[in-house]
Amino acid sequence: MNVVIVGAGIMGVTYATLAKELAPDLEITIIERLSGPARSNSSVFNNAGTGHEANCELNYTPVDEEEITVEKALTIHAQFNVAKQFWAYLVERGIIKDPGCFIHRTKHCTLVGENGIDMLKLRFDEMSRHHFFDGMQYSEDHDKIREWIPFTMEKRPATDRIAATMIDSGTDVNFQAVTEEMAEYLRRKEGVKIHYGTHVKRVHKSPTGRWLLETEQRGEDIQFKADVLFVGAGGGAFPLLKLSHLPVRARFAGFPVGGRFLLAKIEEDDAKRYSAKTYGKAKVGAPPMSVPHLDLRAANGRHYLLFGPFATFMPILEKGRGFFEYLQAMRMHDIPNLLNVAREHFPLVKYLIGETFLGKKKMLEELESFAPGLSQKFDWQVVSAGQRVQIIKDGDLQMGTEIVMSEDKSYGTLLGASPGASVSPEVMLRALKEQMPMLFEGPEAEAKLKEMFPVSDLKLLAKDAKSYKKIRDRVNKVLKIA
Ligand SMILES: Cc1cc2nc3c(=O)[nH]c(=O)nc-3n(C[C@H](O)[C@H](O)[C@H](O)COP(=O)(O)OP(=O)(O)OC[C@H]3O[C@@H](n4cnc5c(N)ncnc54)[C@H](O)[C@@H]3O)c2cc1C
Repeated sequence: MNVVIVGAGIMGVTYATLAKELAPDLEITIIERLSGPARSNSSVFNNAGTGHEANCELNYTPVDEEEITVEKALTIHAQFNVAKQFWAYLVERGIIKDPGCFIHRTKHCTLVGENGIDMLKLRFDEMSRHHFFDGMQYSEDHDKIREWIPFTMEKRPATDRIAATMIDSGTDVNFQAVTEEMAEYLRRKEGVKIHYGTHVKRVHKSPTGRWLLETEQRGEDIQFKADVLFVGAGGGAFPLLKLSHLPVRARFAGFPVGGRFLLAKIEEDDAKRYSAKTYGKAKVGAPPMSVPHLDLRAANGRHYLLFGPFATFMPILEKGRGFFEYLQAMRMHDIPNLLNVAREHFPLVKYLIGETFLGKKKMLEELESFAPGLSQKFDWQVVSAGQRVQIIKDGDLQMGTEIVMSEDKSYGTLLGASPGASVSPEVMLRALKEQMPMLFEGPEAEAKLKEMFPVSDLKLLAKDAKSYKKIRDRVNKVLKIA
């Protein structure tokens, strides 16, 4: 059986690594349009590098009339724990030599002004009762908050009423580095071929039941064949699904949301002073992924501060691809769905258009209101981030991701963008199991699975504090973030 994967971002490469570990004889081909792995959304500064585990992101714990819902936060925390289990396996097997190349421990904080204090206290009371978040601390005291996150307090007036929570065991993850390490491992494996610089233009099923991929490689047309096809192509997954002739294609369309960050290089001493990711409260009408945050980032042996994201309305499939390609990917049946979303989510569309035209001065003003005194302290550059293409399903806009499969499971794809790279091992494990259940059968596969994922049951992690803590402490030690 030969398996073809479209896209060498963190999703496609994780899918391939899992499949190859479970079935070493499998023939796998990865096809990627760019010149290397993780060059699109998974690239280091195209995303914020937060190891999302719901420590600090308010959008995972919605509050409705003093009722807080924490289920989503528990799921995401458990999914990230599963991701760490897999990454620890890669380190223990020597596939990744040094976990310091991709994962660093940082504080995860939430900071709110006067109008968010009650909600944050409610969140703290509810969450800190659960073993996932029992290390969470809460404070309204300026000195305490300054100790946790000094760069948000540089010139904050003493009269400001604020509150913050802090968990000191969060992470900053360089998703590009971990993807590159896996891709390099795969490249050396027998039975794996990776074709970079190869654009998949169209996929369709041949009369024999195999998938045919029409691609362009450096100006030449080349065809690939697949028994099983997984499309992990980010925003590029939508046009391939549209051209696949699968009946399910008519249910989905893409809603693009681009992003920009303010980025500043900082010195080692400043990085030590501010070792945190601090999330605030989203503006009214803003999409959940536009929650402002100030992050310490580590990449290429240097440290950076990142502030944003500033959302943009950019009708493209991926960063670097043109508007025409987005337009080409649309079908007549998508138009009513897009219009419906524009009408139902008018404040969102208005917000995105407003943000698109924000100049650097306004962006620095937003930074200043989040962290008074910081806009002058460093030399900030505006950088464009990755492109999220959110799912429109049956006319409804959705913020999560969805695994979509053909009825016979020979075609699988991941649509949508959040919570993203942090949960990639858990999501790709589920996709692989659904698409190729035979890889999970037999004692060898079961033993390998246990080695990669000692506890992958999210509900069990949430219920059983003892086994959660045991596994968490072990993997944190392996990843050197204990
Ligand atoms: C602004 C922003 C901030 C984010 N912050 C975070 C964060 O803090 N934490 C987090 O966990 N996640 C975050 N994310 C989400 C995260 O970046 C993505 O979930 C993750 O990178 C998706 O990986 P992927 O492999 O699906 O996509 P990508 O990394 O985009 O990979 C898809 C690949 O498919 C290739 N491709 C596309 N079409 C074709 C084609 N036709 N032929 C061949 N190849 C093709 C592309 O070139 C690309 O390399 C953020 C995203 C954005 C945009």
